[in-house]
Amino acid sequence: MTGVSLDNVVKKFGPIAVIHGIDLRIEDGEFCVFVGPSGCGKSTLLRMVAGLEKTTAGKIHIGARDVTDIDPAERGVAMVFQTYALYPHMTVAENMGFGLRMNGHPKDVIRSKVAEASRILKLDNYLDRKPKALSGGQRQRVAIGRAIVRGPEVFLFDEPLSNLDAELRVDMRIEIARLHKEIGATMIYVTHDQVEAMTLADKIVVLRAGRIEQVGTPMQLYADPDNRFVAGFIGSPS
Ligand code: ADP
Ligand code: MG
Repeated sequence: MTGVSLDNVVKKFGPIAVIHGIDLRIEDGEFCVFVGPSGCGKSTLLRMVAGLEKTTAGKIHIGARDVTDIDPAERGVAMVFQTYALYPHMTVAENMGFGLRMNGHPKDVIRSKVAEASRILKLDNYLDRKPKALSGGQRQRVAIGRAIVRGPEVFLFDEPLSNLDAELRVDMRIEIARLHKEIGATMIYVTHDQVEAMTLADKIVVLRAGRIEQVGTPMQLYADPDNRFVAGFIGSPS
């Protein structure tokens, strides 16, 4: 069981609270999307799940494990960011395997994990290239590959496609949906793009100013938004 639960999670930066006591259950294998306007706390919440921000109060569980005070590297999560700094002097394969190499994994293990990730991401033919010889979409795939090779129980994505042009975004959205289907891991995906949210999510969490406005399937939120804010964000136009 590797769902994620948040219990009354609070985040303050100094005296200012930006996350106001969030309760949320994300099921094992679920694709959960956080949406909401800029500054509402999507990244902060995701970073708390990753362990990159300390929680001011409340508890975070991954599966049955209380990870609230556990190091990022020990949480069994991998995060994919909007900006995916690849090492320019390393090949695709080296970029993907770098984290494993640093953790002292044997070469043959790294090679097979990189091969598996590159098969999933259709990067098999690019393993020897340097990042500068890749398209934006291919580079973002390498960044996702770096997460896959670690075999995390939970994938965290923070607006991974917002630096790509519109056409590539569509392709990558389809890739990410396929990745979820193939790997079956729990995924939490932050976006402010309604189409991404509607097409990728099993469950959408609508955030506003550090609070949850509504949680539901895309259909539920579309057909039956609780209020105008949710309707304005993803609801039906009526
Ligand atoms: P989103 O990802 O939804 O755009 P963020 O989680 O980045 O929102 O930010 C939520 C709020 O927390 C914003 O008001 C932002 O200014 C504030 N914030 C985020 N990180 C910090 C920080 N390191 N120090 C102070 N305030 C921060
Ligand atoms: Mg953000």
